Amino acid sequence: MRKFFSGIVVVLLLLMGTVWSAGKEPEAVQTIGNKAARLVAGEGMIRLMEQELMEQSQAHPEVALTFDDGPSPKYTPLLLDGLKERNVRATFFLLGQNVKENQELVQRMQAEGHLLGNHTYNHVQLNKIPETTARQEILKTNNEIYEATGKYPEYMRPPYGAWKKNMELCVEMLPVFWDIDTLDWKSQNVDAILKAAGEEPEDGSIILMHDEYQTSVEAALLLIDRLKEKGYEFVTVDELIVP
Ligand SMILES: [Zn+2]
Repeated sequence: MRKFFSGIVVVLLLLMGTVWSAGKEPEAVQTIGNKAARLVAGEGMIRLMEQELMEQSQAHPEVALTFDDGPSPKYTPLLLDGLKERNVRATFFLLGQNVKENQELVQRMQAEGHLLGNHTYNHVQLNKIPETTARQEILKTNNEIYEATGKYPEYMRPPYGAWKKNMELCVEMLPVFWDIDTLDWKSQNVDAILKAAGEEPEDGSIILMHDEYQTSVEAALLLIDRLKEKGYEFVTVDELIVP
């Protein structure tokens, strides 16, 4: 969708340039859409361009794969291999307690272009604990990620999707939720995970998975192959949020 809008902007800018260079009065610019389109290219041509842009955007919906609770020394490397083979980047919400023991894996994630986020230190439900503890859970994890990568994460996935109102202000992090829950931890079944992900996720979907099970890794890679064939593009969460 983003590409569609940027395409439209490019078209408008081109048209604007043409009108300005033709020495029109500023008011003319305000009615630029139709008038200039007819002047410059004719309605048919504009319709064709819009149609093409629309088709392009529909042909390449974007989705973000997100993996919580890792890294797992057993399964994350398999997932990273598969993602690399497919040239796909994903988002990993890491547990602080797993980062220290797996610094090399975390560094590999970063080196291969994945986005790293925070999933608290001990997988706590943030709205059920005192605010100071909640802050510590988040900041301690940020520090672990910084120790491993030299970069503080900006995004976090609150465990259970439980976020305290306005907490993003005090920890200066953006909470990231999801719209497709594959329940991979529950089923641990490749077919069930694929079914939960759906045949055609909506453009902009954020898919929740966990890189802690063999079945999740297998399902994620199959899902990528399946959706890529349909023209989907895989992006990191920040790319979905910030155009
Ligand atoms: Zn979790």
